[in-house]
Amino acid sequence: MYSDVQLFIDGQWTNAADGASLPVLNPATEETIGAVAKAGRADLDRALEAAARAFAVWKETSAYDRSKIMRKAAQNLRDRADAIAPLMTMEQGKPVGEARMEALACADVIDWFAEEARRTYGRIIPGRAGNVHQLVIREPVGPVAAFSPWNFPINQATRKISGALAAGCSIILKGPEETPASCAKLVECFADAGAPAGVVNLVFGVPAEISEYLIPHPVIKKISFTGSTAVGKQLAALAGLHMKRATMELGGHAPVIVMDDADIAAASKMIASAKFRNAGQVCVAPTRFLIHQKVYEEFLESFVGHAKAVKVGNGLEKGVAMGPLAHSRRISAMTDFVADARLHGATVETGGNRIGNKGYFFEPTVLTNVPLDARIMNEEPFGPVAIMRPFSEIEEAVEESNRLPYGLASYAFSRSEKTVSRLSRQIDSGMVTINHLGLALPEVPFGGIKDSGYGSEGGAEALEGYLNTKFVTHMSI
Ligand code: NAD
Repeated sequence: MYSDVQLFIDGQWTNAADGASLPVLNPATEETIGAVAKAGRADLDRALEAAARAFAVWKETSAYDRSKIMRKAAQNLRDRADAIAPLMTMEQGKPVGEARMEALACADVIDWFAEEARRTYGRIIPGRAGNVHQLVIREPVGPVAAFSPWNFPINQATRKISGALAAGCSIILKGPEETPASCAKLVECFADAGAPAGVVNLVFGVPAEISEYLIPHPVIKKISFTGSTAVGKQLAALAGLHMKRATMELGGHAPVIVMDDADIAAASKMIASAKFRNAGQVCVAPTRFLIHQKVYEEFLESFVGHAKAVKVGNGLEKGVAMGPLAHSRRISAMTDFVADARLHGATVETGGNRIGNKGYFFEPTVLTNVPLDARIMNEEPFGPVAIMRPFSEIEEAVEESNRLPYGLASYAFSRSEKTVSRLSRQIDSGMVTINHLGLALPEVPFGGIKDSGYGSEGGAEALEGYLNTKFVTHMSI
């Protein structure tokens, strides 16, 4: 069922020019299930040439026609979601129902960007003389180099492709080598919808080699990256050196503030499902749980109960709520984080260990008594580990929320309007969701501040990242 994945360059599926490939593993079994073509310089040069040629065509295609092609791609994705989902589960690990939901949600993302393409308005500024006309025009920035990761193989790629295409840009996407097939199926949806050759190109390979070549290349005018803060900083520096526009969607370490007036049962159920979704490998995953001391024991007990109830297993099996971690690096990362926390005096309330020795399964884990200098209180865990801390005054909770250089997502629960308003103003992060899980809809901004990056992957702001502003003034004579 899982077949080898090729590059998509200039409208053709192709092997690497030198025939090189990388293995693809199933994280639930550790078996090799296929191979993905590994692009070399010659392949990248072909992709660059195609993207440059296609840009000239695509930017002259009306927004109305671009939108129609994108909507067709969305429908293709919707129609194929059932077939794509098991491929994603086999390569990434997440439960097949979640994989299917990801594909369907992405069809909505493409539709939304398709509509937004038709609303790329400029404006008219009154001239200082009656015969002076001043126009502000939005133009596509040019061919894009985008880098999307393995945790949401379709979602992260969809946001980049859709933003670029809606604006009139062509794109070279470096997809995730760990999870290439579902990403390739997404690209196929655009190709089959009639996107002209070269408008969407898909490559895989050695990430650093590809980014070091594409980012400085004169054809490329815009960079979009989703991944870790450490890599994002390197790529942003390279983009800056070459004066390239960039969108950086990087790591997070989301705080969750639970006030004593919150609905504890509802909050703990909701936020536990968010914590263990995709085995915690989510940039907006809740991580530091700051619980008012009056409700600390009650919340902890309820949350630990939810953690223990999570059914972990192969995502293809019925009833599984959490699959394996996506690759072996995450297992060693989790083991190291927990060992370090223990060394610092932490209590493991539940979990803390790898499950078995075949497949990258890790127990849903809850830690308490973790001091601020433990690694996991400072570095993004990107796995199924929650940290609980009590607080007594709201100021303490806000201070801890804002302590880290990250500023992506944050969560809070309270029945008090005054508290809700205060937290929404005082938490330093790109996104705050209070009393519900309301992030990542197509029409709302999605992005971070501080070390979590800049730019947006959602909402009207996402399109901004792919547009230049041109001012035109003319005098009627
Ligand atoms: P990693 O930093 O090696 O890779 C993360 C992503 O960046 C991968 O998709 C990889 O292909 C890409 N990448 C790495 N080096 C690159 C380079 N020089 N040029 C271009 N792309 C490059 O880490 P990993 O072990 O794969 O993942 C672990 C960490 O990555 C996590 O701790 C998490 O912080 C981060 N991550 C974040 C997201 C997100 O949604 N923001 C997604 C995946 C991974």
